[in-house]
Amino acid sequence: MTLPAFPPPREDELLTSFLIRLALANALRPTRLPPLLGLPTLWRRDPDRNATSAGLKVLAAATGLPQARLEETTLRPLMGRLHGEADPNALNRFLLHVDRHTRAAGARGHPVCPHCLAEGGVLVRAWRLTTTVMCERHGTPLVDHCARCSAPVSHIRAHLSDRGRHLPAPYHPELCSGCRQPLTAPAPLEPPGLKAALFLQGLLQGAAYTGQARWGELTLSGHEVQGVVECLSRLHLPPEAAQARKWRPEFAPVEQRLPMMTATGALMAGGLVPCVERLRERGIGALQVLARVPRREVPEWFSNVITDSLSRRPHARRLVSLTPGPYRFTNAQWARARSALPPEGHTGGGRGGRKGHREALEAFLTRHWLGTHERGWKGPVSSPTMNRRVRRLAQDGHLDGLIDRLLEDLPAGPEAPVWAQETREALMAPETVRVLERLGSRHTSTLWQLGVQQAARTLEEVQS
Ligand SMILES: [Zn+2]
Ligand SMILES: [Zn+2]
Repeated sequence: MTLPAFPPPREDELLTSFLIRLALANALRPTRLPPLLGLPTLWRRDPDRNATSAGLKVLAAATGLPQARLEETTLRPLMGRLHGEADPNALNRFLLHVDRHTRAAGARGHPVCPHCLAEGGVLVRAWRLTTTVMCERHGTPLVDHCARCSAPVSHIRAHLSDRGRHLPAPYHPELCSGCRQPLTAPAPLEPPGLKAALFLQGLLQGAAYTGQARWGELTLSGHEVQGVVECLSRLHLPPEAAQARKWRPEFAPVEQRLPMMTATGALMAGGLVPCVERLRERGIGALQVLARVPRREVPEWFSNVITDSLSRRPHARRLVSLTPGPYRFTNAQWARARSALPPEGHTGGGRGGRKGHREALEAFLTRHWLGTHERGWKGPVSSPTMNRRVRRLAQDGHLDGLIDRLLEDLPAGPEAPVWAQETREALMAPETVRVLERLGSRHTSTLWQLGVQQAARTLEEVQS
């Protein structure tokens, strides 16, 4: 069967919205159209999510539209780009569940922008993503229930309940399906929150629509974006989540998701390096970020950066360009650096003689670069000796002076000699930074930031 009239789907229009317009253009009730085409069960579930390829094929034949275009009115391709294989029956993260055909209070309505609909717009797929909480054009939060009568927003219900009418109800998605008054939008969000919310939803939409998105300097795949956003958004669960153990954004109204996504956007703005810095400032540990999300969902590099930067347990850095090994100053380097240290004084003449500053500091950097535990350390200078020496140098401020010298002398860039790269990596090693922090070093933050920047650069190199 071919329909006499077929208005094409608009940009990003949802299948259900298109189906309703298609039926009305043919003077049919939307509930009658699918059975006429031989698709009697189409409305029973959530067609935007569950429409089958066979069903879309029938629609393509009836409208003359390419089936691929109709596929792009469903949510399946978006989920496919975020999750790889999208199983329509599985709980798809980031895909909002809506209760379509009920008027019950507390049911989940479909999020919409009342302004867009009032201007003749249609329902779009982006509104079904859990991260989409704002209208980009109007700067106002989306709404999913009527502010007057609390009925959940449903563009379908008006057409399901029009039995007994002679003519199909006209298409007015801008009206509440309960009280038939225009839906109203809350006031626009103020700039910082607005920017943050738009940033996050833009990131996820980029991933869902194109399969990749830029985050700061990095280009991430759809699956990487969803893993990172899942980890970071779970740090901002709304108060409601404390009461409901299985709280999920996929089942939450806009008003619960809005603060969550705004806070996540503010955390992620600018890219990986500023994001990790903000986590550190807030005292958030690696486990808090990573432990609540299944491992296979989290990109390995993200997990490595977070563990390297925020873990409280000692271990070696995972994202490195060099393999950690024994650390040695070059003679020229040491000649300059030692002038920052006090004279070594008498050597005491104990058993085997005392180790000098150079041996002690080389052992210190080696042990922490390798991430070797105190008990596992078998170097030429024992852990207690090394610790005592370094602690004393730190108390007098000599240790910071030494690090100043070392950093001043380091040639930068990819062409830097190996000794310079080794010095940088040994100083930035998570355990070195942690010990320096305990010793009250003023270099802690700088070294830590260098470490995260280095990790981000390593990622970019891997990508390019
Ligand atoms: Zn709008
Ligand atoms: Zn209403």
